[in-house]
Amino acid sequence: MGTGSIRHPQSMFHVKHPRRYNGVMDTPIKTLSIQQLEDCVKNAGLPKFRAGQILSWIYHKNVSSFQEMTNLPQAARDQFDASFPIYMPTIVDKQTSFDGSRKYLLELNDGALVETVGLPSPDGRLTVCVSSQSGCAMACAFCATGKAGLTRSLVPGEFIDQIHVVQDDYDERVTNVVVMGQGEPFANYDATLAALRIMNHPKLLNIGARHITVSTCGLIKGINTFADEPEQFTLAISLHAAHQEVRDKLMPRLASQPLKDLRRALVSYTEKTGRRFSFEYALMKNQNDSEDDLNALIAYCRGLLCHVNLIPLNNIDDSPIKPASSNQLKHWESQLQSKGIAASIRASRGSDIAAACGQLAYKRQNN
Ligand code: SAH
Repeated sequence: MGTGSIRHPQSMFHVKHPRRYNGVMDTPIKTLSIQQLEDCVKNAGLPKFRAGQILSWIYHKNVSSFQEMTNLPQAARDQFDASFPIYMPTIVDKQTSFDGSRKYLLELNDGALVETVGLPSPDGRLTVCVSSQSGCAMACAFCATGKAGLTRSLVPGEFIDQIHVVQDDYDERVTNVVVMGQGEPFANYDATLAALRIMNHPKLLNIGARHITVSTCGLIKGINTFADEPEQFTLAISLHAAHQEVRDKLMPRLASQPLKDLRRALVSYTEKTGRRFSFEYALMKNQNDSEDDLNALIAYCRGLLCHVNLIPLNNIDDSPIKPASSNQLKHWESQLQSKGIAASIRASRGSDIAAACGQLAYKRQNN
């Protein structure tokens, strides 16, 4: 790790006790979906439009206390203040890349840590790479996040907090979101979807559904449920191998979700939604980059409405898994394309700050 790299001090992984008020356990407001917040407002005896006001203060104006919600009656402010704490993250570290991307280490109210990345584009887009969990339980062999295990899943508002951090720091509106940070979003499905709806809501963050991408390691139940959601959110699958035994080695926790079942779920996803999805394939030297691996990928993609993103692996210190050469990436790209499979090499972003950490995939969204 270079100087200034983000460390994850163990001492910060403590869980503070939730605040109690009058003996009643508080509900941090950011744990709620839009629907749940509307229900709380109703239960408090307030008209429905108050829920819209509260949501707007929290997720549009990003306030940290009910007392700032000046269009709410004072009694309602006091009532909510008493039992719905509003937690804000703290930026504990920030690194800026030569290419303009910025990586933040955020500490949440209980000390859990997450990383977030801001990725500006020359065409004016500002993409945020959002984490869905602090840490990750999937233990993929090539991923640094997996090495430390899972701390906890994030609640909906903690996804949105990450967007606000980037928006405020760049002083620009966020146009795109990729849920490609730490964690497995489909292992935290309900909170992820609740967060996506807050991002997408026209009166809240107003980010178009097609500009919001969720990346999964391939949890089939999540893919099936996602296909039934009404919004046109974009799906990406971290494939990394089209041979079962290679994938089992690289992504051991996925062994119970075989490639053939994954493929069936993806066929059904496209039948239901009519939408294309992408595969992420990080080329790793002597792991998943042989001609045999390439042919397996070609066979796997044939007949699927997919785009293959070939990714240069971020080197992780102490890992025996190394990136394949850039010539190898180009070879794979041209071979896939010559077989009629849409493929591109995804430009690595923030490679210098990624090198200091190796935890996040610094990638540009291609939609
Ligand atoms: N759990 C989700 C999302 C988080 S990981 C998923 O697996 O898709 C985001 C992406 O970064 C995934 O495609 C993941 O495979 C990739 N990734 C992990 N470690 C990497 C590394 N060292 N180099 C490049 N990409 C990596």
